[in-house]
Amino acid sequence: MLEKVKGFSADRVIEEFEALTKDAERVQRETLFRILHDNREAEYLQNLGLRGRTDPHSFKSCVPLVTHKELETCIQRIADGDAYPILTGKPITSISLSSGTTQGKPKFVPFNDELVHSTMQIYKTSFAFRNRAYPLRSGKALQFIYSSKQFKTKGGLTATTATTNVYRSEQFKRTMMDIHSLCCSPDEVIFSPDFHQSLYCHLLCGLIFSEEIQIVFSTFAHSIVHAFRTFENVWEELCFDIKEGVLSSRITIPTIRSAVSRLLRPNPQLADTIYNKCVGLSSWYGVIPALWPNAKYVYGIMTGSMEPYLNKLRHYAGSLPLMSADYGSSEGWIGANIDPELPPESASFTVLPNIGYFEFIPLKEKGDLMEQNSDLLSNQREQEPIGLTEVKVGEEYEIIITSFAGLYRYRLGDVVRVAGFHNSTPKLQFIRRKSLILTINIDKNTEKDLQLAIEEADKLLAAEKLEILDYTSHVDMSTDPGHYVIFLELSGEAREEVLSSCCDCLDLAFVDAGYVGSRKVRAISPLELRVLKRGTFHKIMDHYLTLGGAMSQYKTPRCVGLSNGKVLQILNSNVLKSCFSAAYN
Ligand code: AMP
Repeated sequence: MLEKVKGFSADRVIEEFEALTKDAERVQRETLFRILHDNREAEYLQNLGLRGRTDPHSFKSCVPLVTHKELETCIQRIADGDAYPILTGKPITSISLSSGTTQGKPKFVPFNDELVHSTMQIYKTSFAFRNRAYPLRSGKALQFIYSSKQFKTKGGLTATTATTNVYRSEQFKRTMMDIHSLCCSPDEVIFSPDFHQSLYCHLLCGLIFSEEIQIVFSTFAHSIVHAFRTFENVWEELCFDIKEGVLSSRITIPTIRSAVSRLLRPNPQLADTIYNKCVGLSSWYGVIPALWPNAKYVYGIMTGSMEPYLNKLRHYAGSLPLMSADYGSSEGWIGANIDPELPPESASFTVLPNIGYFEFIPLKEKGDLMEQNSDLLSNQREQEPIGLTEVKVGEEYEIIITSFAGLYRYRLGDVVRVAGFHNSTPKLQFIRRKSLILTINIDKNTEKDLQLAIEEADKLLAAEKLEILDYTSHVDMSTDPGHYVIFLELSGEAREEVLSSCCDCLDLAFVDAGYVGSRKVRAISPLELRVLKRGTFHKIMDHYLTLGGAMSQYKTPRCVGLSNGKVLQILNSNVLKSCFSAAYN
């Protein structure tokens, strides 16, 4: 029997989820009806000649597939204060800034209460399943969550990241209490204007409430790894604060100082316990269960571009299970992870058929996908999108979403694979971002291909006791012909021979026929490895935060183009060593 807590019942959530997923096709039709009916006054839909029709057929024949680019003018008008119903019937209440790691600058996305509702539905659904496997008592969560900067648009709307919009909502706290995941830090820490000070205080509050912490969480796994890398440097200072009951002078923001100081009392006994546990650890292995003995699991998005952090996360988590969180975006949620016992590498996301209308463009082969990236090829080659319940197990698709917040047939830019079905709704595995990141002529490499190449280099470096802390790439066309550049930040100094073999290994690890062929005939120059100074990726992260991004949604850019000049400059000005591959000589 699942635990029932004040108005929230995990049993009921699961029952509702089962009912929703039994006839997903009907629920999808009803959802489309609601979206189109609620927004029938919107200029965008009116101009497309829908004339009040709400059936899938009319919808697909009248409404084109779009990317963010095509909607930019409409969203800008909303941000500028045009009161006319442009994309939605009811006014858009705020603007979300997507992480924008790919383009180098955040995108504006409409946000409204419907997105808050679906976020809560997703949180509760995956929690209900998690709680069946790992029941929690009432307690707290060490949540590495951060708000981003907020500003008012010309039209007076608040613009901030989607996660901040959610944290600011009334429902967030209530839901966190319902699911025993209330953040142990006060709001002042979450809403601090300085991410570094927030992080220090999250760690401190986590230690103060160490007995009560049941979950260690962040939206994306990178933030957890980042938090514990920081902990390795500040743990003695944290112990000192707890021993003396006085907050470190590094916390300078008055609101945070007073909120956190209220929680601090001199506690030499706790400080000694933490100190002794830390000195007893070997290379920080298992630091999380050591310091938070009642933690049941580590939770956050660990799939897709977060996979490269799994090794480090497992190291810190020791015996604790890692549980991959749900799948969504600033534009809207897609699915919940209802199989918490599966390792992150096998995580899938069961689509909730009532939170949006979903379509899928079949991508039979990698070639199909790449052709879609080419501006030269018309959309005629593209297969027709199919409905949520028509997808096939094992196949890959580009996902298209229609949301309650004014996005109609919107190409999110993600590729997913159908892992199976739960009742009649699919379980999706995240595969990659759709766009190509490395291409010079006929070569085609995605973020996933780069990740696989990095994994090969990682094995080679691990034998030398070196760790890849983070990585990115660049296509350098200043040489003739152009070549791939891989930037690595390493945990220590590598010998020249090791770097040379690492560079060859990376070059050989791109197995795409277009790349191999081009390398053999020298249509692509040798791959270049550039090793970065320690801390370079922190500088890049700080740069994104100053642009208005939030740490909660931060993802390291996996390819940096010329359009992302500032980041490229940070990378190039922090190169310690570089070498070229001799793999195809
Ligand atoms: P944002 O731009 O910050 O809204 O990030 C949304 C993007 O993050 C999605 O389009 C995905 O590419 C990625 N993402 C979100 N959830 C997951 C997940 N569970 N697994 C892998 N990637 C995800």
